[in-house]
Amino acid sequence: MHNQSDIRRLFPSDDGNAAQRNQMLELIEQIVSGVDELKDPDSVFLKGDKERGPLFYKELADVSRIPHNGSPLGEVNKELLSLLHAHPYHTKYFLTNILPMASTPGILGMLAAFMVNGNNLWDVYGPAGAEAEVKVVAMMSDLVGYKTAESGGYTTWGGQGAIFTGLRLAINKASSTAATSGVPQNLYAFCSEAAHYSLYKSMEATGLGSDNLVKIRTNEDSSMDMNDLKAKMEQVIAKGGIPIYVVATTGTTDAMGIDSLDEVYRLTERLALEHGINRPHIHADSALGGFFAFFNNYDFANNPLGIEGEALAALKTIQAKMIHLNKADSLCFDFQKLGQTPYSTSLFLVKNASDLKLLDLDPDETPYVGHRGYGQYHTSYTLECSRMGSSISIYSALLAFGIEGYQKLLAQFVEVNVSFRKALELEIPEAVIVNPLNPGIITLFRLYSDGKNGYPKEYAGACSYEEVDRENKLNEILFEILGRDRSEMFFGDTKKHLYVPTTDAKRIALYASKLFVISPYTQVSDVHSIVHYLKGKIEETYSEYNRMNKREFSYEEIYT
Ligand SMILES: *Cc1c(COP(=O)(O)O)cnc(C)c1O
Repeated sequence: MHNQSDIRRLFPSDDGNAAQRNQMLELIEQIVSGVDELKDPDSVFLKGDKERGPLFYKELADVSRIPHNGSPLGEVNKELLSLLHAHPYHTKYFLTNILPMASTPGILGMLAAFMVNGNNLWDVYGPAGAEAEVKVVAMMSDLVGYKTAESGGYTTWGGQGAIFTGLRLAINKASSTAATSGVPQNLYAFCSEAAHYSLYKSMEATGLGSDNLVKIRTNEDSSMDMNDLKAKMEQVIAKGGIPIYVVATTGTTDAMGIDSLDEVYRLTERLALEHGINRPHIHADSALGGFFAFFNNYDFANNPLGIEGEALAALKTIQAKMIHLNKADSLCFDFQKLGQTPYSTSLFLVKNASDLKLLDLDPDETPYVGHRGYGQYHTSYTLECSRMGSSISIYSALLAFGIEGYQKLLAQFVEVNVSFRKALELEIPEAVIVNPLNPGIITLFRLYSDGKNGYPKEYAGACSYEEVDRENKLNEILFEILGRDRSEMFFGDTKKHLYVPTTDAKRIALYASKLFVISPYTQVSDVHSIVHYLKGKIEETYSEYNRMNKREFSYEEIYT
């Protein structure tokens, strides 16, 4: 029989007593050791069976109801652990995408935040979050070369939230009436064809509409083509439109292409001057790649960390582009990506904190919080109202890793990738690397039906749409085979690497498989087994392709 005092046992204590603390620690121990029991370093999934058939979610919805009586916490924990069965896990063969393991300091930071459960909306309710947020905004501002006395920022809902907020700023900079009377329809935003779809979605959500999003062609290294940007901005202006927002991706999610912020800045300044308009707001979508700014002050000449030569050169090339991050009016660090913290810990930064005033609410509109004689930190400019104190996790990771810790981790990722590329070229020459100009932690590779390197011809526009499409289908078979066997090694893929022109005057994107180095447990010494595994899957792909084509041929023979 439950009595009222029992219900308190579901909470941490209010007096720090040992009995409740020990209960809490035992429950945490149960989770942590429960996960450990599920681990297998040679698999990309935790142990346990999970049959996710076509009716899986429907059946869950059919039977899931709130229990009338609560269960003991140890029993609840067992249920939680069974959720984790067969979950992807970031072992050495986890090579799929920007899906990192949460580091121990990242997790501990979350735990610290949860223990007080402050609301980061207002420092009166969440002082720890406010303090950590101001600290991490200053730390990251300093890293990229923003002036810490002028910059601002806050944690938000993803790299996508950062792009959205950048657009809100751009709209409000361009129009003093947008906030009250709605968004004028002659405002335009620009990003490259290789940019994340976040801006597309933001155009819809702000009411500007995705027709007002202009996509800029990319160069072979997946960076924005500056001539195309210039031409398209001039076209917009000539038709009476106003360019208000340019998203420069500094590290594309597929190929690690890096737009030149320096050039975007100079071009937009010049065009604004020429046409008597305001320079568009520039957002650096540095969600993924911005972390390479940790090398901004690395002594490349003396290489104190002893980074391998080619990896060192790769890091230097990337860093030379990241040095221009401070040209952007706003940017983002997705700490849940290369910052090694749990979801969601994205940090949005603005060069001039005063920009945020454009988004702020009138004090009359915030009757519950802020703008009082007490409290000095109220984030009424965020799209969220209540906010988690995720800055505490970021703070924890920054303290624990330090600049050097991040340098070591990123250098390891790059070393593995360099080694993978070499081994791939040597042992599987038919897997052609199609982002050779992008050093970093991602390799895209593509097969050709004749086993030769068809990429230069494709890139030059010397293939028909149908020819490229046929090669895409071959690559799709490899996607399927790698996907089917992903419990052994988990690779990624993309259907949108580089749009190439075709002989029949169309444009088509290339399909490519992807190796994304993201686990701290992937070592250079693992590259051999990764390439060996791939070789088998690629052989299987060719035989499947040949089998399918023969069958298609005889089908046509019968019916024509
Ligand atoms: C991941 C990513 C995004 C989206 O970030 P979320 O945190 O998933 O919202 C946007 N842009 C780039 C370049 C990214 O890599």
